[in-house]
Amino acid sequence: MTSKIAPSVRELFEAAVGRDNAFSDPDKAVDYGHDEFSLKEIAREPDLVVKPRTAAEAAEVLRIAGAHGVPVTPRGGATGLCGGCVPLHGGVVLSLERMDRVLEVDADNQMAVTEAGVRLSDFVKAVEEGGLYFPPHPGDESAMMGGLVATNAGGSRAVKYGTIRNYVRGLEVVTPAGDVLRLGGKLEKSSTGYNLMHLFIGSEGTLGVITKVILHLNTRPGIMRSLVVPFAELEPALETVPLIMKRGVVPLAIEFLEIEPITLTEEHIRKKWPTKLGSTHLLVILDAPSEAEMDRLSEAVAEVCCGKGAIDVFIADTPSKQDEVLAIRSKIYDAIKSGTVEILDIAVPRAEVAGHVRKVRQVAAKYGMWLPTFGHAADGNVHTHIMKARFEAGKMVPVPEGDWRGKADLVREELFRDCRERGGVISGEHGIGLVKKPFLSFVLDERQIELMRGIKRVFDPRGIMNPGKIFD
Ligand SMILES: Cc1cc2nc3c(=O)[nH]c(=O)nc-3n(C[C@H](O)[C@H](O)[C@H](O)COP(=O)(O)OP(=O)(O)OC[C@H]3O[C@@H](n4cnc5c(N)ncnc54)[C@H](O)[C@@H]3O)c2cc1C
Repeated sequence: MTSKIAPSVRELFEAAVGRDNAFSDPDKAVDYGHDEFSLKEIAREPDLVVKPRTAAEAAEVLRIAGAHGVPVTPRGGATGLCGGCVPLHGGVVLSLERMDRVLEVDADNQMAVTEAGVRLSDFVKAVEEGGLYFPPHPGDESAMMGGLVATNAGGSRAVKYGTIRNYVRGLEVVTPAGDVLRLGGKLEKSSTGYNLMHLFIGSEGTLGVITKVILHLNTRPGIMRSLVVPFAELEPALETVPLIMKRGVVPLAIEFLEIEPITLTEEHIRKKWPTKLGSTHLLVILDAPSEAEMDRLSEAVAEVCCGKGAIDVFIADTPSKQDEVLAIRSKIYDAIKSGTVEILDIAVPRAEVAGHVRKVRQVAAKYGMWLPTFGHAADGNVHTHIMKARFEAGKMVPVPEGDWRGKADLVREELFRDCRERGGVISGEHGIGLVKKPFLSFVLDERQIELMRGIKRVFDPRGIMNPGKIFD
């Protein structure tokens, strides 16, 4: 696989997208060599960045790349957390940023049609202006719609409303051969052959470039309320989650948080969490069509929590109180990012979360590391942060590299083994990308990985699409 692009080939790429939309100056290209993964050592500068405006331009880019053996890495908002859009072998980064129009919000069919480079925040705004609702809400709103589909993103609302996969009804994709395929449509049902559309969901840019997405929309939910429930200990807090679900209440989200990251995030964004009591908090977010139903659900949740020893139940029911609580939850990563080596994304069956987090505590004690853990408890999705810092007197204090580098690998491996023993997967929503690739075989047997390789070969016989991601 070549990594440098010959001048004559570069001219072809420039002609495909227009000279103004192709560049390689290091000052600008450096920004296209990484995502949000904390350790910048995995970054790799592309040889050329191209910004097509249409699927036809993207198709021409892929045809040229295929003919000349140039690797192509699709790039959305670069909010990924596993190095998925890092151009590992150089070559071309194909940025979707100019494909940024929401094309239609179709109220009659409850569908939206959007280009792949639209940011989640802009998409949500357009949908709301159209009087409808798009439930999935992964944490970083600058992610792009194509990237969300390519990683099958989740977010905290998956327990009630599912992940992105549950909303995709159609895709326009460009294959590495330069064909533009229209898969699915504004359809709620299809039993028409193999579902190629679903293959692209979660394919992390290894099968082709997603250029357009058709998404199912819901009607607007009624009202929302957040309950913050502190517990003295971690385990009763986590054991409460399956009990809430068994009670027949399906919250919009149940997040669990530890007090240390809450404290650091309050400081970081200068907002206040409702309470400092206890060590572990549940954030239960409810939606309901009426006040009466909301009261019924809230009481049921409070009863279950108090039955498991909750210290108190704090209610955020005004928009400003809700915003404050949600802002703190969504900014935890920002607040502790400078001390983070890696944020894990393990998913286990819901009733295994307490056991897995107990294991995290044991591993933290064994290696003398701070491993703050929070996550989408009702989805079984646990985000443990492997840290290069410790928490001391309300502050994050860096630790010397010699004290974390070797241990980080051991911690990751022990937690992945625990995840496997509990019937889990190493990524619930972020994807495998580059950094989790060595661990895929922890949870998938070789036969499954070989079938995946075979599928990749069908779409991409020359191996130009995002090479070196998910598996080798
Ligand atoms: C603070 C923070 C909070 C987050 N919270 C969540 C969360 O709650 N839930 C969650 O699931 N994720 C979360 N993430 C991770 C990230 O936002 C998601 O993985 C998101 O889906 C990535 O989208 P992106 O557009 O930024 O993709 P990128 O990072 O640009 O790319 C991700 C992968 O998709 C491929 N790709 C991108 N666009 C295309 C395309 N058009 N066609 C084909 N392949 C493409 C890339 O090659 C790469 O492999 C969070 C990240 C941050 C920084």
